[in-house]
Amino acid sequence: MPTTTRAAVLWGVGEDWKIEDVELDDPKAGDVLVSMRAAGMCHSDEHAVTGDLPVPLPVIGGHEGAGVVEAVGPGVKNVAVGDHVAVSFVPSCGRCKYCSTGRQYICDDGAKLFDLGMMSDGRNAHHCHGTPVGRYAQVGTFSDTILVNENSVVKVEPDLPFDAVALVSCGVGTGFGAATERAGTKPGDTVAVIGIGGIGINAVQGARIAGAKRVIAIDPVELKREKAMEFGATHTYTSLEEALLAVPELTWGEMCDRVILSPGVVHGDMVEPALNLTAKGGTLVVTGLAPMLETDAQMNLFMFSMLNKEVKGTIYGSSNPRAAIPGLLSLYREGVLKLDELVTRRYTLDQVNQGYQDMRDGLNIRGVIELG
Ligand SMILES: [Zn+2]
Ligand SMILES: [Zn+2]
Repeated sequence: MPTTTRAAVLWGVGEDWKIEDVELDDPKAGDVLVSMRAAGMCHSDEHAVTGDLPVPLPVIGGHEGAGVVEAVGPGVKNVAVGDHVAVSFVPSCGRCKYCSTGRQYICDDGAKLFDLGMMSDGRNAHHCHGTPVGRYAQVGTFSDTILVNENSVVKVEPDLPFDAVALVSCGVGTGFGAATERAGTKPGDTVAVIGIGGIGINAVQGARIAGAKRVIAIDPVELKREKAMEFGATHTYTSLEEALLAVPELTWGEMCDRVILSPGVVHGDMVEPALNLTAKGGTLVVTGLAPMLETDAQMNLFMFSMLNKEVKGTIYGSSNPRAAIPGLLSLYREGVLKLDELVTRRYTLDQVNQGYQDMRDGLNIRGVIELG
């Protein structure tokens, strides 16, 4: 029996999300049907709306979430009916070269993230008004029920709150991993985070937990600077320009050992000032999405090589979802990682456009859609 679900669908660039009835196939080999409970409202979905990320449309939004497995297709071994799961926008097949060398975050299945058809067999298993509909990052969590590949779900302990489980599947893991795994923050480091959204705030707490002696948070919005202090920042500045004036004195001229660049939208002209904030021998990690067709970035190559700096990209904080999701949740359980405090507002599925407007207006660290 096919399932009908309510879901937030984007039909065209610049349009609002529309709540539609979407028909889902029964799960086939490798597929899992998940009854959703919570979905985080990440900035990345907004990139589909603005066109910065040209995803095939129509598409169901949402790529972080939590729910309960309702049915499984033949041969599914990772999860069973009744399991609580995090929905991961980073698939991990466990068998490709990258998964088998501890780099699930660049699993070969990632190449299928914006395919219209299912990751398992390529068939169109989601239809709206008779039209095949895609799912953002093969998951599309702004939906009461989702049909996904078993490689896109990670089993979690059933007593954990669904909000917390939803958040670690993208924004938290990305920010935390950017500061810890990718930037390699060590005890005593000075770390700067540029842009305190859903990723940046978690880079702040990642740097704190990794033992940074100074965590510098840079954002024009006062609420976000205040939040950053709650999450472990030691200093805040309203702009990169202001930080570049103050940080030399603060660090006796050394500048920042690690810099995380995590604005809402990354642009090429941010790289040079971010590198100026980076210490000699330091690391700049670029996370968050840039417009897909932008190829130009400015940097002083003389200073880059002479001062032995490095620039790194990262997806999901270069963390492995099957280790990072339960790992972050255990830090949350022990009171080390803050997750409840990240949620600034909750919305129903029907309020999805309001939620994104609040994000644009700088009112949200993280909005969460309550489902089911
Ligand atoms: Zn995200
Ligand atoms: Zn893989």
